[in-house]
Amino acid sequence: FTYQENIVPYSRAELAQKVAANLSESRFQHCLRVEETAIKLAELNHADVERAAIAGLVHDYAKQLPDEVFIEAIHEAGFDPELLQYGNAIWHGVVGAYFIERDLGIHDETILNAVRRHTIGAPEMTVIDQILFVADFIEPGRDFPGVVQARETAFADLAAGVRFEILNTLTFLIEGQKKIYPKTIDTYNAWVPTQA
Ligand code: GDP
Ligand code: FE
Ligand code: FE
Ligand code: FE
Repeated sequence: FTYQENIVPYSRAELAQKVAANLSESRFQHCLRVEETAIKLAELNHADVERAAIAGLVHDYAKQLPDEVFIEAIHEAGFDPELLQYGNAIWHGVVGAYFIERDLGIHDETILNAVRRHTIGAPEMTVIDQILFVADFIEPGRDFPGVVQARETAFADLAAGVRFEILNTLTFLIEGQKKIYPKTIDTYNAWVPTQA
């Protein structure tokens, strides 16, 4: 895959190398599979393939930064202090976009927003947001109860794939008695219920 536009100040190979340098081998391989899945979903949905691919490649760039680095960024860069009550699962997307802009020279808001929303979604999601959100969930390395149905649903209808993922993830978090980030509930309320 070769970049045609100047969205990133690097070639695809240079960008992949920068992402790889910040991640374990297995996490980097996940990013490559999300990139590949995002390209497929973008082609199917007549969306911007290059932005989908870049978002997929970089989306977990910040996943393995130490908590202290996120905590300092939340304090220093004007993030909502409520984020301090959560952890890496929430931070690596919402705050991770800040590190991606700083370290990878990506200033494209379509890509940065998709990264910000890739874990918790949002009530309103662009097609690129939806593609990254779903690609992360169904990439070929994923194996969880329901993944086959998640893939079938998402490849048939992207928005239906988003709804399936939100319901599945929230159900799993509640069953595990995890703390739910309020924006995750806002996402659920906007996408899943068919009536009040
Ligand atoms: P990954 O980075 O590729 O592993 O995938 P994601 O970024 O989509 O998700 C990271 C983790 O965050 C997953 O285990 C999700 O289940 C979890 N997660 C999503 N929403 C919430 C939330 O509201 N609260 C908590 N505690 N975890 C969440
Ligand atoms: Fe992630
Ligand atoms: Fe996700
Ligand atoms: Fe991911």
